[in-house]
Amino acid sequence: MDVKTILSFFKSTQTYNVEIDNPTNIVEYAWIWVLQTCGEFGLFLGFYLAMAALYAVGGFIFHLFDKYKLFPKRKLQATKYPSQADMTRCLNNLIVNYIVIILPLGIVSFPFSKMLGLTYSLPLPSVWRFLLDIFLCLVGEDFFHYWMHRFFHTPWFYKNIHKEHHYYSAPFGFTASYAHPIEVIFLGFATFAPVFIIRPHFFTFYSWFIIRQLDAVLTHSGYDIDIFPFNFMPFYGGTSFHDYHHKEFTCNYGSRFTFLDKVLGTYKEKKVKN
Ligand SMILES: [Zn+2]
Ligand SMILES: [Zn+2]
Repeated sequence: MDVKTILSFFKSTQTYNVEIDNPTNIVEYAWIWVLQTCGEFGLFLGFYLAMAALYAVGGFIFHLFDKYKLFPKRKLQATKYPSQADMTRCLNNLIVNYIVIILPLGIVSFPFSKMLGLTYSLPLPSVWRFLLDIFLCLVGEDFFHYWMHRFFHTPWFYKNIHKEHHYYSAPFGFTASYAHPIEVIFLGFATFAPVFIIRPHFFTFYSWFIIRQLDAVLTHSGYDIDIFPFNFMPFYGGTSFHDYHHKEFTCNYGSRFTFLDKVLGTYKEKKVKN
């Protein structure tokens, strides 16, 4: 395969024009303007950077919570604050995962995502359709994550791969993607799997990856704060649920929802205060 053929995989599938495509609101206008200006691959890179930037902002906000001991009553493992060495180790791992694993994985997946029949074209999905698709992604990812996570807790895979993610028994925001690179790849499949099934609009597809990352930052934050946007959902275990997994290891394998753990007998009530 020559370079020209490889480059053709990254070309836009159609042309976009704000005058012709008739956007009906500011979001649709911005969507088409970015596609017209940067192309489909440029849009992908923009979303990747947004995902990484929002992850960094979320992690940094919780870092400030720890540094200045804000909201101590909401801290799940009250005496366990990360040290500077904890932070350095975590950030070194994140840099490798984001640059060596997640970005190349996204670039390689880019041509394949086109084959799924997803569209960039207007109209963008309605608010309700968007929320429904995101909800289905949250539930679907939780299902695939549960089984992969249980698999990673079998002796060989735990010792050689998943143990890295459990280095921090009291997680903090930046630890959401702190993991062995092999685990990052496998859990990336869990994030991608519901998209493969429901085939949403590309706008939802990219938004889902950002929401997934922010949800992971929240569930690793170490703080149980009621204003978290997902807390109203039924069976949403959230931060205390996953924090307890890091503390106890052999329970609460779901990403965020508790129902699979409850049905399959792996749920443990949080006893989160030290
Ligand atoms: Zn975790
Ligand atoms: Zn685990």
